[in-house]
Amino acid sequence: QGEVDFKEDAKFSKHLEKGEAVSDFAKSKTLAQQRQYLPIYSVRYELLQVIRENQVIVVVGETGSGKTTQLTQYLHEDGYTTNGIIGCTQPRRVAAMSVAKRVSEEMETELGNKVGYAIRFEDVTGPNTIIKYMTDGVLLRETLKDPDLDKYRVIVMDEAHERSLSTDVLFGILKNVVAQRRDFKLIVTSATLNAEKFSNFFGSVPIFYIPGRTFPVSILYSKTLCEDYVEATVKQAMTVHITSPPGDILIFMTGQDEIEATCHALADRMEQLISSTKKVVPKLSILPMYSQLPADLQAKIFQKAEDGARKCIVATNIAETSLTVDGILYVIDTGYGKMKIYNPKMGMDALQVFPISRAAADQRAGRAGRTGPGTCYRLYTESAYINEMLPSPVPEIQRTHLGNVVLLLKSLKIENLLDFDFMDPPPQDNILNSMYQLWVLGTLNNVGSLTALGWEMVEFPLDPPLAKMLLIGKQFKCIIEVLTIVSMLSVPSVFFRPKDRAEESDAAREKFFVPGSDHLTLLNIYRQWKANQYRGNWCNEHFLDVKGLRKAREVRSQLLDILHTLEIPLTSCEHDENTVRKAICSAYFYNAARLKGVGEYVNCRNGMPCHLHPSSALYGLGYTPDYVVYHELTLTTKEYMQCVTAVEPQWLAEFGPMFFSVKDSDMSLLQHKKRQEEEKTSMEEEMDDLRKLQTKAERE
Ligand code: ADP
Ligand code: MG
Repeated sequence: QGEVDFKEDAKFSKHLEKGEAVSDFAKSKTLAQQRQYLPIYSVRYELLQVIRENQVIVVVGETGSGKTTQLTQYLHEDGYTTNGIIGCTQPRRVAAMSVAKRVSEEMETELGNKVGYAIRFEDVTGPNTIIKYMTDGVLLRETLKDPDLDKYRVIVMDEAHERSLSTDVLFGILKNVVAQRRDFKLIVTSATLNAEKFSNFFGSVPIFYIPGRTFPVSILYSKTLCEDYVEATVKQAMTVHITSPPGDILIFMTGQDEIEATCHALADRMEQLISSTKKVVPKLSILPMYSQLPADLQAKIFQKAEDGARKCIVATNIAETSLTVDGILYVIDTGYGKMKIYNPKMGMDALQVFPISRAAADQRAGRAGRTGPGTCYRLYTESAYINEMLPSPVPEIQRTHLGNVVLLLKSLKIENLLDFDFMDPPPQDNILNSMYQLWVLGTLNNVGSLTALGWEMVEFPLDPPLAKMLLIGKQFKCIIEVLTIVSMLSVPSVFFRPKDRAEESDAAREKFFVPGSDHLTLLNIYRQWKANQYRGNWCNEHFLDVKGLRKAREVRSQLLDILHTLEIPLTSCEHDENTVRKAICSAYFYNAARLKGVGEYVNCRNGMPCHLHPSSALYGLGYTPDYVVYHELTLTTKEYMQCVTAVEPQWLAEFGPMFFSVKDSDMSLLQHKKRQEEEKTSMEEEMDDLRKLQTKAERE
């Protein structure tokens, strides 16, 4: 009763005998032996042959066949590192780090030596590095400095099927590199999807298939619509644990909160079971997995559970393709995932929960059949799978904000973005919208080229508003202060708020408040941490997360390096708060909001409601100021402004004359909107004219 009902899928044969205990493979074999057991090993010779004969190839293989960990090593063994290095891109930071670690172990070298990785703000490579794993974003930035990517002999674009924003842009850029450099090789790898499309994009290049070695997976659908998929998941996982033969469980949830809720509920259920029965309850090792999870906890999912416990991994879609865990025989799929989607009304990206695509659902199911015949429990109906899910996911480039991409392409001197060689071009509206925002920030001029400010901003691996804040700090002579603020904003929250000590930690946080500004509060925290010799103990005493602060310090030192390179003098305004607040305002006037009620604001441009978060330092003022700017909006129960600073209305008029005038308070929102539309239309017209001129010039 209340249990989810499952119906067998006719397309898949049901295997009643589940494989016995999963072989204790990882334990009993050396790393070298494990390498030889991977499916890719059986085709090593042919694969290297095809690579020798072609400049670009597409490699297709099931997840776990050894593409990510072996291809780079094969290329190294085949001599490609004698003149140049091998780069391998990953759409996810976690994958870049974990895979580099694995490969360094297989090659018996220290991580950061021959094998290393680079993600934003973290470069673990050295002069000896010949195999470099990195996020696609890192490689994209490298193309700014070195458009021909001269130091790379081979680039493996891994996980291309994910179609991340940076991967899609890299496709266009690398196509050019391939044409420029005959000595350069490009290998595009993909799970199963899209191989033809990739091949065609590069001019019908060969597709190499790694033979699979997978077992059948029976698929069981929910008979009814599932109301609460966390609850349904917990029930299903417990049922599997109690009634099914050995084999680990993998659960797909959408994000960190749900994962934690699921893990809690599972632990509770296990405890209840143990206390209510006299029988021996088999052990269950419950392991969360999401990108923000500390690395040591992440590593646990790859380790064998203690005393034969069954592992139950609760993961985001990170476990769909980028990480492979052996021994999974049961998959529970909620049918949902989180996706970044551009919301033009709010002018921002928001992570939203969305039904996954059929391709993703099949990929998830496939995770159960790697070590033996498995089972996948789908918490949705077969009809939803057939009729409601999209066949494949929408590429990120078609659904997110393009501010950074536009900036990058502009700095690569690609004047007309609509002409760029995109595999799937983004909607024109998104490009124009992003250009408009960059124009507002003073990054693009009226004809859509980079301004001097824009050229400087490109040097920083930061989102446009943060880069602008830093550079305005130069103008206002408070660069040291904004540098710290920008670094603190580039790491996850440094506040530590354990549920059982919420009041205590709130009180600790309030001690740091700079009334009227969350940004200055962050600055204050960093300064005090420094005054206390960057001590970890000090952080614990004040409910601050030392890892977050250390990360901020690292980011700060890297941004400092860039400032040095650009010969930007390090000015400080010491404790002149107004100057810093003005610099903050100049970067965020796009996110200006006006007071409407207690703790309630509306965005000045579009009238969107936004709320002051209960944890904001603005409550330290004793009153709520009329005008504020905020770092970003997050959608939880309400639209909350994250990181808020009170500003003077005349500053808004000074920095954002296209939106505000001093008498602005009299101006209705409708007029704002109208003016915004007018500005946008006029810019679009200008750009249209420009395009026409260009086409005309080309024709002549
Ligand atoms: P693919 O890229 O084709 O999905 P991988 O090269 O990532 O395959 O993985 C091949 C095998 O290497 C996996 O099946 C797994 O056994 C092992 N492996 C990969 N990463 C790790 C890791 N971080 N820790 C332990 N084993 C790993
Ligand atoms: Mg891989």
